[in-house]
Amino acid sequence: MTTLSEHLRQATPVVAERGEGVHLYGADGRRYLDFTAGIGVTSTGHCHPKVVAAAQQQVATLIHGQYTTVMHRPLRRLTEKLGEVLPERLDSLFFTNSGSEAVEAALRLARQATGRPNIVVCQGGFHGRTVAAASMTTSNTKVRTGFGPMMGGVVVTPFPHAFHYGWDMETATRFALREFDQLLRTVSDPEDIAAVVVEPVLGEGGYVPAGAAFLQGLRERADRHGFLLVFDEVQTGVGRTGKFWGHDHYGVRPDILVTAKGLASGFPLSGIAAPAELMRRARPGSQGGTYGGNAVACAAAVATLEVVEEEKLVANAAAMGARLRAGLEEVAARTAAIGDVRGLGLMLASEFVTEDGEPDAATAARVQQAAVDEGLLLLTCGPAGNVVRMIPALVVDEAGVDEGLRAWAAAVRTGTGAA
Ligand code: PMP
Repeated sequence: MTTLSEHLRQATPVVAERGEGVHLYGADGRRYLDFTAGIGVTSTGHCHPKVVAAAQQQVATLIHGQYTTVMHRPLRRLTEKLGEVLPERLDSLFFTNSGSEAVEAALRLARQATGRPNIVVCQGGFHGRTVAAASMTTSNTKVRTGFGPMMGGVVVTPFPHAFHYGWDMETATRFALREFDQLLRTVSDPEDIAAVVVEPVLGEGGYVPAGAAFLQGLRERADRHGFLLVFDEVQTGVGRTGKFWGHDHYGVRPDILVTAKGLASGFPLSGIAAPAELMRRARPGSQGGTYGGNAVACAAAVATLEVVEEEKLVANAAAMGARLRAGLEEVAARTAAIGDVRGLGLMLASEFVTEDGEPDAATAARVQQAAVDEGLLLLTCGPAGNVVRMIPALVVDEAGVDEGLRAWAAAVRTGTGAA
């Protein structure tokens, strides 16, 4: 009998039969409130009727119009439609299938366009599991252990993770930028740097917003030294943070933007956007792939962007995010084991700590499991696994947020032994 790899483990015991909006229905007949959204993917909710209709129609019309063989309508429409939401200068697109693949496309473009070898990444960042993306990932050694040597040319700089350092944001930012400058003097001459790659909110690394001053500092240095600034918006994009892109909170522009996850409501689709004059400098043959820009995925993405616009999901993410955050802060205020509540929009997390302020993964795991019993699906993150995150679909309403908060309060009581 064949079985799934034992390493492909599920964080919950749920066997999902069907999804609708913010709910998943288990084979056990139970309805679960899904605050994982397929790791921030089902932006319009599970099986949004408009996304379903677009995908169904496309399946019956053209499933695979291989994009280096023929052009197809959904690809053309998606390229145009993204122009409405992308930063103005980023007017050239290349599509791939996963976040990792898009990150690697950004890496290739940055190196080819600048002719420089090094990529600076932020400590705690997650960029994927394929070898180059894993080489850029420092959210947990699990992602990058046992199959080295990793790709060369990756240099790691501190991220302004104020809670981790036990500082305020200003101090953490000053430290991170000072260390970055030190890195330019001691590890990699700026002339060897192709790009700095950063998430506007650290995702797998623990849901930590980068802050405007840090990103502005990186932008300034990129301009001064002629390297590129790449925003990995795989998790923060498409309304997740209460603005269309995570970096919209900070008024700092990227040279390359990486998008995936929420873009197609669950169909595998990712891409990079860059100014045409930069994209042109990629070497011929470096951009392609059998499945990239799949017609069904592109049709679903067009429908997703329409739904996000028509249903004002970015504003909804901001409003529901504020409501959810207020509730999380209330629970944290009466729970000594929750040391920090943070995030942006509907990308929020609570960090569990011991009495000594050390990461407390055991309590986080108990709370996450207790939440399943309460009918609420959640995931953990952070290098120590002690951060419990909430990333509901952007369609979540007040009733959904309140239902989630009731379940959360109960799970925290059970998981921390306060019940
Ligand atoms: N970048 C970020 C910021 C991510 O959160 C992820 C996935 N969690 C990736 C890249 C990799 O995406 P994928 O799993 O689709 O390869």
